[in-house]
Amino acid sequence: MVIRKLFRFESAHIVRNCYSERCRENIHGHSYTAEIFITSDKLDKGFMVMDFSLLYLVKELIDSFDHSYLLWNEENDDFKSFIRNYSARVIELPFSPTAETISIMLFALIDRILSNMEFKNGEGNVQLSAVRIHETVTGYAEATRADWGMLPFDIRDIRFSEGIRNVWQNDILSRIG
Ligand SMILES: [Zn+2]
Repeated sequence: MVIRKLFRFESAHIVRNCYSERCRENIHGHSYTAEIFITSDKLDKGFMVMDFSLLYLVKELIDSFDHSYLLWNEENDDFKSFIRNYSARVIELPFSPTAETISIMLFALIDRILSNMEFKNGEGNVQLSAVRIHETVTGYAEATRADWGMLPFDIRDIRFSEGIRNVWQNDILSRIG
């Protein structure tokens, strides 16, 4: 059985080293859609794979990306200083922020949240099966566990700015660490 939950966020970025001049030379934003697919081998006592209300941390994690700038840490120092100094909500990443990398990253982070989750309602083997990131209405990238090898990175190199951490209701870092 597969269940799916959809989240939305608006983020800005630059995608370096791609064909499109517009994408690689301009700060621009997208209205992203994140689809989270979760599987299980049995239903819980509420006859569900899992109650969506348990996904409050996933919701807060994804909300961290809303109205944030996604900054590749290999940008030059001038650009990084500009973004850090003039934007409060910044997520620094050890890779360029494409739909592909965002889906693999969110898979890794949400997988950690799910593995650290305490299920108390007779849930079965609840697993994250895929994260699908739509950057536009016409295209998406989907990451599964098999795709981790495409993007080796350390979760600790994903840095959320103070402007994001200050509004967290939960200590997300401790739940993904
Ligand atoms: Zn873009």
